[in-house]
Amino acid sequence: MAQRNLLPEKHIVDAGYIDAELLASSVTEHGVNLIGPTRENRSWQARASTGYAASHFQIDWDHCQVTCPQGATTRGWYPTVNRFGTLEIIIQFDREVCAMCAVRSLCTKAKGGRRVVIQPLEKHEALRLAREYATSQEWQALYHQRAGIEGTLSQGTRALGLRRTRYRGLRKTALQHAATGAAINVLRAVRWLDGDKPGRTRVSRFSQLALPA
Ligand code: SF4
Repeated sequence: MAQRNLLPEKHIVDAGYIDAELLASSVTEHGVNLIGPTRENRSWQARASTGYAASHFQIDWDHCQVTCPQGATTRGWYPTVNRFGTLEIIIQFDREVCAMCAVRSLCTKAKGGRRVVIQPLEKHEALRLAREYATSQEWQALYHQRAGIEGTLSQGTRALGLRRTRYRGLRKTALQHAATGAAINVLRAVRWLDGDKPGRTRVSRFSQLALPA
């Protein structure tokens, strides 16, 4: 899209295209805001609604210091490269301070002081802002535009052979894609007139277990 000068201001994508790295680099490299569901913080502290997750800590980026919810400040700030080759920052609190903490059980199960791993500033902020934005009604309305697209792609590839081109050359292939799109519309219109109304989005049995009773 960049080569063809077709970059959008906002690009609505599924969860597979949303992570801190992509959120930050799409803005800095292309000026594109990615809109999509962010992965939840899966740490036990975040899942326990009363726990102290990384988001509860105040980060002073200028002085490389972090303050915990109980007001203790960090002993160490260690930029490091993880096993995936990604830069991250390990924050370490004093073992003695955490040992004396009255709410330690909300914060850490480690024998030593609490350790928090954060992303570098640009990525950390990109993810934080994306998570915050995803809770807004504006985000919901924007993301609603993507509703149904996976079903449409699935119909195109499974029923109409969208994955394979019958022609050589991009121009003819583009024409095939346009014809496939028109065929999907015709198929759906015929089904609608036949009384076949769209069903509800299928929820797998496994996912149903997570739904409220
Ligand atoms: S355990 Fe340590 S880091 Fe956690 S809240 Fe207590 S003093 Fe702060």
